[in-house]
Amino acid sequence: MKIHVLTLFPEMFTPVTEASILGKAGEKGILDINLINIRDYSNDKHSKADDTPFGGGVGMVMLADPIFGALRSIGPEEEVKKKKILYMSPRGRHLNQQMIENMAQQEEMVILCGHYEGVDQRVLDYWDMEEVSIGDYILTGGELPAMVLIDAVSRFIPGVLGTKESATDESIYSGLLECDQYTKPREYAEMMVPEVLFGGNHRLIYLWQLENALRRTRDCRPDLLEKWLAEDRKLKKDEKKILDKILSGE
Ligand code: SAM
Repeated sequence: MKIHVLTLFPEMFTPVTEASILGKAGEKGILDINLINIRDYSNDKHSKADDTPFGGGVGMVMLADPIFGALRSIGPEEEVKKKKILYMSPRGRHLNQQMIENMAQQEEMVILCGHYEGVDQRVLDYWDMEEVSIGDYILTGGELPAMVLIDAVSRFIPGVLGTKESATDESIYSGLLECDQYTKPREYAEMMVPEVLFGGNHRLIYLWQLENALRRTRDCRPDLLEKWLAEDRKLKKDEKKILDKILSGE
């Protein structure tokens, strides 16, 4: 997948995109991140990329012209317009798992990162951009939100993770929060790993994990548990017993 990122701060990306799993995906050529510095497309001798807002108000607004130039550097306008073009924005639809999986189907995507007070509205209108938010809070720029999106989408690009299971065997995806995880040693700071996890009985381990995941979800995300319960689960007798226990508040 190729992702073109339009930003005023390309240097913010490389520590993330060149490290760990994303870095390896880049080396393997599975993920190609094209960082475009919007300032390079400014016609101003000081590479100005923002100006004061019409109608007054505090802060600066990113100029349309350098962003148009940056978008046209990707390819012919009609070709660029056919790609998914996202604008990271607190006004946008909240990013979720379904959106991420749909995005992972794209061969190419464009992401615009805002800064200051945002971008001239004409950029969004002309290029028919989809606004995407990572939550109800305000960050100083769209770079971190873009990195969140790229990281989450990358996990669903074949070859980025070791196995398909690792992308889907996680909190949220299964409908429940993930159960508690442990590794060696068995005892640490006088705390023991639950005995059942090294007993070797796969069914008992599974039931412990299910109970733990159900309990975490009930306590932290009751909304998720409600959705999970709404689906026809066809639970086995021992699973049903655990569910009843969790629903009774135990
Ligand atoms: N004035 C804008 C508003 O009230 O909607 C907020 C501008 S914010 C300070 C600067 C930039 O950060 C935005 O243009 C956007 O690209 C990015 N940003 C901030 N919060 C975000 C969020 N929750 N999700 C996605 N992008 C965000």
